[in-house]
Amino acid sequence: MKLKTNCPFTLAEYKNLIRLAKTRFPIIAYQKYKCYNSFIIWRHDVEYCVDEMNKLAEIDAAEGIRSTFFIQLHSYFYNFWSNETVKTIKCWIKWGHAIGLHFDCGYYGQKVFGRIAELILFEKNILEKIYGTGVHAFAFHNPNNKILRHQDNYAGLINTYNKDFFKGEIIYVSDSNGRWRDKTIRDILESPETAKAQINTHDTWWTNQRIPQIAKIERAFRRQAERQIENYKEMAIVIVKDIV
Ligand SMILES: [Zn+2]
Repeated sequence: MKLKTNCPFTLAEYKNLIRLAKTRFPIIAYQKYKCYNSFIIWRHDVEYCVDEMNKLAEIDAAEGIRSTFFIQLHSYFYNFWSNETVKTIKCWIKWGHAIGLHFDCGYYGQKVFGRIAELILFEKNILEKIYGTGVHAFAFHNPNNKILRHQDNYAGLINTYNKDFFKGEIIYVSDSNGRWRDKTIRDILESPETAKAQINTHDTWWTNQRIPQIAKIERAFRRQAERQIENYKEMAIVIVKDIV
């Protein structure tokens, strides 16, 4: 099958990109971005599967870089409150990574725009209480043009789409939907013109083998469903022995 992506999207390529980045740039936390003339901020928006993201968190830690993981409280695809999610994300913090708030305006509907600072503060406080660590930045989930007009740093958090980060001097490149829209991460990292960049890599798109991106999503969701079925069976055996 002919693959249409312009990047291998393998974990080996991911590791190469991290190595390329760290040889050329300091990789820094959001709250330090005004202290450097040249840097990379390595960002991860957790979208589909916490276990898939764990693979990138492990590589980042093994390569000695500290990245920032933006967590959603209302994801359709993973349970923010589950024991497994919390345990995995606590490991990332132990490895030295930071967490940020991946704020979903869509969850609140139109009323979000009159209360945006209050709602971001509310979710930031939940994140900080659960994980016992400071949260210094937020990123809008699925931002449209209306959302992107909100460029302030609400609730004391750096807005990753503020005037410096969005169409400012800091380059932004993302693997949203498993593809590059324009330039690839490699293009940005190799360009002599790059001084400051925010690189956003999502979970699930990076795997051992080079297979179509849609197959990666299907495989991750099937694994989650199978785990739910197994969990149910284990529970049901205890409750009603004749159900299985
Ligand atoms: Zn998102």
